[in-house]
Amino acid sequence: MSRFSRMSSLQLFVLIFCTITAIWLTMQFVVFNTCWHAAKYVPTNVQSLCQKEQNYLLLRVFEIAKGEPQCIKLLKIFEKTVNAYGSKPKIFMITPTYARPVQKAELTRLSHTILLVTNIHWIVVEDAENKTALVTNFLSKSRLPFTHLNVPTPPAMKMTKEDPNWLKPRGVLQRNLGLSWIRKHVHPDEKGVVYFADDDNTYDLDLFEEMRYTKTVSVWPVGLVGGLMVEKPIVKNGKVVGWNTLWKKDRPFPLDMAGFAVNLKLILDHPEAAFSLSVPRGYQESKLLKDLIRVDQLEPKADNCTKVLVWHTRTEYPKLKQEWKLSVPSNLHMEV
Ligand code: UDP
Ligand code: MN
Repeated sequence: MSRFSRMSSLQLFVLIFCTITAIWLTMQFVVFNTCWHAAKYVPTNVQSLCQKEQNYLLLRVFEIAKGEPQCIKLLKIFEKTVNAYGSKPKIFMITPTYARPVQKAELTRLSHTILLVTNIHWIVVEDAENKTALVTNFLSKSRLPFTHLNVPTPPAMKMTKEDPNWLKPRGVLQRNLGLSWIRKHVHPDEKGVVYFADDDNTYDLDLFEEMRYTKTVSVWPVGLVGGLMVEKPIVKNGKVVGWNTLWKKDRPFPLDMAGFAVNLKLILDHPEAAFSLSVPRGYQESKLLKDLIRVDQLEPKADNCTKVLVWHTRTEYPKLKQEWKLSVPSNLHMEV
């Protein structure tokens, strides 16, 4: 007689139960183990979704992944779904930047703003002969989708504080290089918007959602610019009919770089539209916009231009009087 047939039905039940439990625990361990490794694989833009979107996506993922215990696969499906869901128009944000004591601090602050924005691609253009280690390393650890470019401003045009011409245009060639990159690399069917974000301004998160759905060129007020608390388009019946600007008010588009965004298709359809080193200071915005649109076609945003969602803040040049006295810099082998 075999050993099994000698067992009582209770013993047999216990044996089967234990075997099933052992198999189940082993499977749990395998799954748990996979999940543990999967922790290294974090989908890139999940955090930037709102809670409602996340809940909806989780439900979908678990629906798709029924009977699929491998976590890496599951997370990959999750990421794919997030990307498909992220069909909001993409913001292509062009930022010129140049080496100075506050550069890393400015870029850090700006990057933390962008981390909170969905579907944004950051095009950082260094005003430099070569890409610097500071910006290269900064971007690689930024957790942002980015493109890193560089082009130097010709020395004759470059300003320094000591130079009497120090108010010469800044970031002109860098913004143009950003535009060329977009024209070369972005698929013509992509839905999006182009925004020129200087590295020292302050941006409200709502600004990005306002500009995202721009059909032509959208405009809005900018705080702390042009010698005023706010410079803004004057809007009547949903149309821009004038400007409250005082500084160089004869400009065709008397607004700041931070005060408008351009539909991606408009940029792609006008390959000639660009900034220029040979226009007077303050005329960069007009130079680009004249190539693209008429004033009466502008789209006012930010509640018909009644809200300030961006500030033209400028960072004070740090006091480094003590530093210049040192024979060895205080930051020797140290990036600041
Ligand atoms: N910038 C640059 N090269 C320069 C000076 C400025 O690339 O020599 C960049 C700067 O980092 C910023 C933009 O151009 O993103 C506008 O410069 P800034 O903020 O100094 O000008 P503002 O409009 O405040 O006068
Ligand atoms: Mn600035």
